[in-house]
Amino acid sequence: MAIDHKYPEVNKEKCIGCGACVSVCPANVFEMKDGKSVVMRPEDCMECGACVANCPQEAIKLVGE
Ligand code: SF4
Ligand code: SF4
Repeated sequence: MAIDHKYPEVNKEKCIGCGACVSVCPANVFEMKDGKSVVMRPEDCMECGACVANCPQEAIKLVGE
């Protein structure tokens, strides 16, 4: 999948499943699966940084270009 902008990756080892990223993302990029956040729609990311800023575990980073 080629995406011409940044998008989030979740470190599953760090994620505690709080759901903050799901709540704050304006583009509905994340979904909770089995108690962890999963990046379901990276192509919809608008690079706003809200998920990174609101994750209490610093489990999210924006990657790609
Ligand atoms: S950077 Fe913004 S749009 Fe992209 S996944 Fe995070 S909260 Fe959603
Ligand atoms: S905000 Fe961070 S810790 Fe909370 S569900 Fe999302 S990735 Fe996991």
